[in-house]
Amino acid sequence: MEIVGKNVLVVGLARTGVACARFLARAGARVTVTDLHSTEALTQQLAELAGLGIRYVLGRHEEGDFTGADLVVVSPGVPQDHPLLLSARGAGVAIVSEIELASRFIDAPLVAITGTNGKTTTTTIAGELFRASGFATYVGGNIGDPLIELVESGMKVERVVVEISSFQMEWVDRFRPRVAALLNISEDHLDRYGAYQEYIDAKLRIFAGQSRDDYAVLNADDPLVWQYAPTLAARIFPFSRTKELAEGIFCRDGVIVYRHDGVEATFPTDGFRLTGVHNLENIMAALACALLLGCRPEESLACVRGFESLHHRMEFVRSVGGVGYYEDSKATNVGSVVKALESFDDITLIAGGKDKGGSYAPLVPLVRERVRHLILIGEAAGRMEAELGALTDTRRAATMEEAVRLAAEITAAGGTVLMSPACSSFDMFRDYEERAQRFIAAVNALQG
Ligand code: ADP
Repeated sequence: MEIVGKNVLVVGLARTGVACARFLARAGARVTVTDLHSTEALTQQLAELAGLGIRYVLGRHEEGDFTGADLVVVSPGVPQDHPLLLSARGAGVAIVSEIELASRFIDAPLVAITGTNGKTTTTTIAGELFRASGFATYVGGNIGDPLIELVESGMKVERVVVEISSFQMEWVDRFRPRVAALLNISEDHLDRYGAYQEYIDAKLRIFAGQSRDDYAVLNADDPLVWQYAPTLAARIFPFSRTKELAEGIFCRDGVIVYRHDGVEATFPTDGFRLTGVHNLENIMAALACALLLGCRPEESLACVRGFESLHHRMEFVRSVGGVGYYEDSKATNVGSVVKALESFDDITLIAGGKDKGGSYAPLVPLVRERVRHLILIGEAAGRMEAELGALTDTRRAATMEEAVRLAAEITAAGGTVLMSPACSSFDMFRDYEERAQRFIAAVNALQG
């Protein structure tokens, strides 16, 4: 991709925008950065870009910058149907996302991982697997560092693993991962997408640039994912928890079996620290990505065995009076809560937060069977009560602290208190980490 001397407009000056602007300026492009935030609000970002000869249009956007550019680089978070992006496109200007820009400068085989849930866990495991087999590996994207920072650093790597969110697949055209994995799809981000199908289509774009020489790792147990298998150009490499596969990776009697082009490798799961059926899926998907790109089975088994749960994903906090307290603050949609509820029996569920506009109906059978008490918090409480309240003892709490105290009062010994919200956190907390810390602090404050 030729960028020397080109007029490039970077839209949005958060972390990704800063990294893109820096890379482009150093590579010889004539860079303009535009952001609706004021100069004062962007002091830190501007300091990071000092001395690079970048032109700024801040606190506003100028249509001429969009229509007159040779290339527009869009940060995630800028709506795809932004009128000025549409004007640029109308004027024939190329528009790319940061992922697209970065991938054009990366030669190492690239693994891209997406799905409604499990992206971070699977991406992290896959990165560890490559490192365990001795590959110099960069892990980034939606998790950790933006991909463009790899390009900018000039670092030589042998494998790249990127976590991809649906938003990052906007403004992508030639992005071509050697292996792309789609873990699952369920309703999420309906507050951002006009329709569920738009969200699904954004996820599927991860495969759009692939050809027959590439692999699509697909969850064969997820009917929505699997129905798209015949539409993809890449070789399909399925994973399944429930059925044996002639080609693919599956689990049989507690042993993960990898079968590819007549070669078989086995991975006994006893002793794995990562538990839960969803994590078995994540491990299989990560193993598939790693083994397809040259990882060795022995090192891979040792690596997954030692892998522990990431924070805020069904994490055990403490036991008080015979009741176990678990924190699953990262469960920001209904699909992730389904997996959490499948993992316990006698549950007091603390849920609610900022509503994302999807249906809570997939929770109905599990709430009926396993949730003895439901404690609702946040803006979504009313809608959740309307959909789930009649199924079990349901109460409201004004704060996380009140919810935890109430849970402690009403949960009998042997039960589990689970904070798995099904919503994002921004109505009551800065982010999901703060929500987790407030829950943990409240649990630690209980008298043991
Ligand atoms: P993501 O990056 O897609 O948000 P995480 O690995 O951070 O995924 O996990 C987010 C939430 O989803 C957690 O509550 C976790 O327990 C749950 N989860 C993880 N893997 C899966 C999966 N394969 N299917 C459903 N839920 C999952």
